[in-house]
Amino acid sequence: MAKKHILIVPGDGIGQEVTTVGKQVLDRIAEKFGHEFTYDEALIGHVAIEATGDPLPEETLVKMRASDAILFGAVGHPKYDNDPSAKVRPEQGLLKMRKELGLYANLRPIKLFDELLEASSIKPEILKGSDILFFRELTGDVYFGKRERLDDGNTAYDTMIYSKYEVERIARKAFEAARTRSKKLMSVDKANVLESSRLWREVIQKIAPEYPDVEVEHQFIDAAAMLLIKDPRRFDVVVTGNLFGDILTDEASQIAGSMGMLASASVGDSTGVYEPIHGSAHDITGKGVANPLASVLSAALLLDISFGLKAEADAIIAAVDKVLKDGFRTRDIANSETPADKILGTDAMGAELLKHL
Ligand code: NAD
Repeated sequence: MAKKHILIVPGDGIGQEVTTVGKQVLDRIAEKFGHEFTYDEALIGHVAIEATGDPLPEETLVKMRASDAILFGAVGHPKYDNDPSAKVRPEQGLLKMRKELGLYANLRPIKLFDELLEASSIKPEILKGSDILFFRELTGDVYFGKRERLDDGNTAYDTMIYSKYEVERIARKAFEAARTRSKKLMSVDKANVLESSRLWREVIQKIAPEYPDVEVEHQFIDAAAMLLIKDPRRFDVVVTGNLFGDILTDEASQIAGSMGMLASASVGDSTGVYEPIHGSAHDITGKGVANPLASVLSAALLLDISFGLKAEADAIIAAVDKVLKDGFRTRDIANSETPADKILGTDAMGAELLKHL
């Protein structure tokens, strides 16, 4: 029996709606497998700014550090998207959380459920069998380098910066994962142009001999972006920097059919954070139509990675597979052939899923 304390951080927009379902699934798993999960909740993003003026209040950080794992929703509000000059912004909460918790590795499994082959904009015969695991570095690169506005606001720069140890620690995680899969690792950079990428490649090449069973391939980001659409099955474990990983994983989300299907894990020095890859989706907030499956699959990753509860995680994935096989869809993964009575809202999809747990 596992005794664990989980912090629920729903954040903004549909983060609130989908995380409710994610938590219900964790509850059901605890009941079914005889574990004891206790929960607390905390604020981040726009809701935190409204309540305290701070996108990541100290109280939230304290609760984060004190928990065994964090189920996270999303941050963001239209107010800030349309006002680039706003000094306090919801995303600052997200970036600070990653830095404060030392979450340097973002894992994004791109798993395609066969039932959703038709939901993707890529041809089914190209897609079928795709199964990719991205390792995106999360606390370095242009997102954390020095940035400045010069010449009375007419010129700006951001610094793409990496240190050896930052590349090494994420590379090791990726090599280890490659060992448990098809023993192939693709490292993505832009070493033909960027000095930070040359350092990246050097480090990968230096530690590769420690993993002689893993075959390493280097690709430039532009070629990798093209290949991902052309031949997704060629990819297995991929390791890349923060900016390239941000873009490449959103592109890869189309392999899975929708952003609403993809989960991610951010791990590193302290408590792991598990979240859907999608944002707060203002366009559908409050309508009850958000796909909760990314949050549910995030809960599965949480159980697997932070608690080592693999059978429990597999039970969740099997339940997702079952509801999709039964023909149920949220709007984002439905198509013109989906019968109206099979198109479910967020809560109804959650209820359908719980029937199989
Ligand atoms: P988004 O991911 O919120 O939405 C993109 C599109 O996908 C929208 O049309 C949305 O309706 C759809 N979508 C996303 N998740 C869905 C789900 N679960 N079910 C059904 N449809 C879904 O990205 P965006 O529109 O570019 O950004 C909206 C806000 O989210 C912005 O404020 C942005 O800064 C923020 N954001 C936050 C995160 C995060 O918290 N990790 C990530 C990305 C964007």
